[in-house]
Amino acid sequence: MPTIDFLWDLLFPPKCPFCGRILERSGDLLCPDCQRELPWLTGPEGEKAVDFTTGCVAPLRYQDRVRDAVRAYKFGGKSARSRALGALVAQCVSDHGGSADLISWPPLSRKRLRQRGYDQARLLAEEVGKALGLPVEATLTKREVPAQSGLTEEAERRANVRGAYAALDPERVRDKRVLLVDDVVTSGSTLSECACILRLAGASEVSCAVLARAR
Ligand SMILES: [Zn+2]
Repeated sequence: MPTIDFLWDLLFPPKCPFCGRILERSGDLLCPDCQRELPWLTGPEGEKAVDFTTGCVAPLRYQDRVRDAVRAYKFGGKSARSRALGALVAQCVSDHGGSADLISWPPLSRKRLRQRGYDQARLLAEEVGKALGLPVEATLTKREVPAQSGLTEEAERRANVRGAYAALDPERVRDKRVLLVDDVVTSGSTLSECACILRLAGASEVSCAVLARAR
């Protein structure tokens, strides 16, 4: 008997999140061309040091098709991409031997969330949680600050997010190993600020995983 997933795939065939081509084999996350040609990061390249964390892993470099896909995902309302992208991040966490008790994400401010309609980091975190079989919980809130994407200097980015985040409920993270999921890491200032808040709230460890690493 056809399952709901099967019918859904028939109506809305899964597409490669990077080039939009319809995927021929069910279960594939991306098309064979993208599998071959995307700027994959391997070994130490795929790990970035981020303050207050055990590090940030990323499967891809933030360029070309990856940048286009993330931009479409972030600003074009393409939230349906999150399943495949989340599965890639989850695979990367496993490849690097990562483990955690719960998954969370750096949230948008309420104003930004209203403007955009969805929180792309949250969608990604939820898909990573499904793939890894880990609970996904909101742990932080963010007050309104200017967008990081307008700032190029690392010191500016760091200063911009200082004090922007607060812990929702320290009880949720006390003595827990938290994996923070986001779409892109640039300077790492957002992730380190979030990690600092979570550690102060009692998290025993914070690790990070993102889809793509810029620079
Ligand atoms: Zn593709």
